[in-house]
Amino acid sequence: MKVSKKQKRLFVRTMICTVSLVTACFFCSSLEAAAAPRAQETGERVTIVIDPGHGGENEGTLEGIVQEKKMTMVTAMAMYEELLKYDNVDVYLTHTEDVNLSLADRAQFAEERNADFLFSIHYNASVDHDLFGSEVWISSVQPYNAYGYQFGWEQMQQMKDMGLFLRGVKTKLKNNGDDYYGIIRECTARSIPSAIIEHCHVDESRDTPYCQTEEDWKRFGREDALSVARYFGLSSTSLGVDYSNEANNLPEVSLQSILPATIRDQTEPDVCVLTLQNADYDTGEVTLEVTATDYDCPMMYYDYSTDGGKTYSELIPWPDLDIMAGTYPDTFTFSLSFTKGETPVITVRGYNQADLFTESEPITFAKPFVDQEKAAEEARQESLAAEEAAASRISDPQVTDAYGSVITMADAAGNTGASSEGKKEVNFGVFLVICIVLVVLLLMVFLLYQIQQSRHRKRRRKAQRRNVSGRNRNHPR
Ligand SMILES: [Zn+2]
Repeated sequence: MKVSKKQKRLFVRTMICTVSLVTACFFCSSLEAAAAPRAQETGERVTIVIDPGHGGENEGTLEGIVQEKKMTMVTAMAMYEELLKYDNVDVYLTHTEDVNLSLADRAQFAEERNADFLFSIHYNASVDHDLFGSEVWISSVQPYNAYGYQFGWEQMQQMKDMGLFLRGVKTKLKNNGDDYYGIIRECTARSIPSAIIEHCHVDESRDTPYCQTEEDWKRFGREDALSVARYFGLSSTSLGVDYSNEANNLPEVSLQSILPATIRDQTEPDVCVLTLQNADYDTGEVTLEVTATDYDCPMMYYDYSTDGGKTYSELIPWPDLDIMAGTYPDTFTFSLSFTKGETPVITVRGYNQADLFTESEPITFAKPFVDQEKAAEEARQESLAAEEAAASRISDPQVTDAYGSVITMADAAGNTGASSEGKKEVNFGVFLVICIVLVVLLLMVFLLYQIQQSRHRKRRRKAQRRNVSGRNRNHPR
């Protein structure tokens, strides 16, 4: 087929256009997903108010190793000291003593200092001591909702880097639609952006390693300061850091309506279905598939029961959850192992970001799984018996070595105690001894015969000599 020059040119142009279009689309889409600048505008200097949560008679949670108010004070002081190292920043603490201070007074304190942001420092605990992870609470009122979300996003990055599970940046409302948390309500009423930082849960084993010592609480304070520095794009001559570009890398927000990502869901997950993938009755391995979703917010945790819902496992993070992107797989599989000959009834509960759950229908089994423990015990007994038998076989030749001749004689006499190999050795020894004895006896007999023969010959010669001399006497010459 002939291709004209015109056709060739057209083909090349089409290819260039296609490649350019694809490249442009790719860059546009990546730009769309890319960062946005900080929505909150501030002057040259930034004023930050740190509020150590609780104080005085308000001790906060008592589930940790000390009262929450002591932990929040240590964290807030560390955050304060760290922020002082930055340029163009004024930092205040609502209180430094263990005093009663109303939430309105704390917000009032921030207002009097013309604060750009109030950060309320807290540690968490749950009623059932089962929740774990880090979260930030913000105002539902714009623009404070947008400001709070952008700060919270920075804070979540810090907590994620520490290794904590992320519960997200959220709003919580009262029945009348106002913000639920007093400090946020009071700040919003005074046009002050605010956020409550709940660092971790002091009563759950996966979080407690992060908040055991005073150094742990200080570390949280330094991490909080870093989040604030990144959010406001601060720089520090003494620390030799410059985050002025960081404030352009925040997630995009809208100042028009409450960010969907921050809305606390009021209803349970919409779907939670459990299906059996595989059950191996010999090994006790069961593979299950969970399909669950919430149309309003991400799924957070799941737990399971093997006794029809009487007791449940601890909460398990939803696999591959990205709480800040709001993405999670709505289907995943997990395996369980049954080793006690039980006939389980399995149910699973899927939890959404509001810690509300939906329970699946139960999965039942027609027959019990093999008793792995009992089987293992039987196998152990069998191998023990085999080992004992082997040990007794090995011990006999050892005795033979030590008392060789004794046992050799006993075996030669027909003792049945020794092994066949030992017997063979003994029989060969006896045979050898008998041979040697026979050879010696033969030699002795031969020698005796020789001696007797030589004596006999001597005697005969003597007699001959005597006969000759006698004849000479009778017949003299
Ligand atoms: Zn608290």
